[in-house]
Amino acid sequence: MKYSDDELLNNLKDVGLRATPHRFLIYKLISKSKQPLSVSVIIEKSKNKEDVDKATVYRNLFSLHNAGLLKKIDLSNGEAYYSFETGEVANQFVCSKCRSVEKVDGDFFDEAIKKMMKKSKKFKGVELSMIEVCGVCAGCR
Ligand SMILES: [Zn+2]
Repeated sequence: MKYSDDELLNNLKDVGLRATPHRFLIYKLISKSKQPLSVSVIIEKSKNKEDVDKATVYRNLFSLHNAGLLKKIDLSNGEAYYSFETGEVANQFVCSKCRSVEKVDGDFFDEAIKKMMKKSKKFKGVELSMIEVCGVCAGCR
């Protein structure tokens, strides 16, 4: 997926966030990635382009996520990943050794969630769902 600068700027405007150079850089970086990026990778990549410190990256990730422009994924090991919020359900494989993440598309997940919903006595409606499947990636086998 590719997003033009204009689209990204419009998204920021829509949620009332100023497009500061650092914020825009971070947002654009994540929008270009097909896979969710870990905070350490985002910091690394931002530093390659501009003089950004860690705190700035964290602050901007926080505001972008808070505004609903990014999806945040907290892994069980405490590392956070961010991906572009497209409004679609994120399902992913996570490598238990190197913690790499791969997004998985598939309507069958949505179907499975609907079935789960029907069986639940407590919950009557899904707002957000995410399925994380842990395993070992090809590189770590
Ligand atoms: Zn791996």
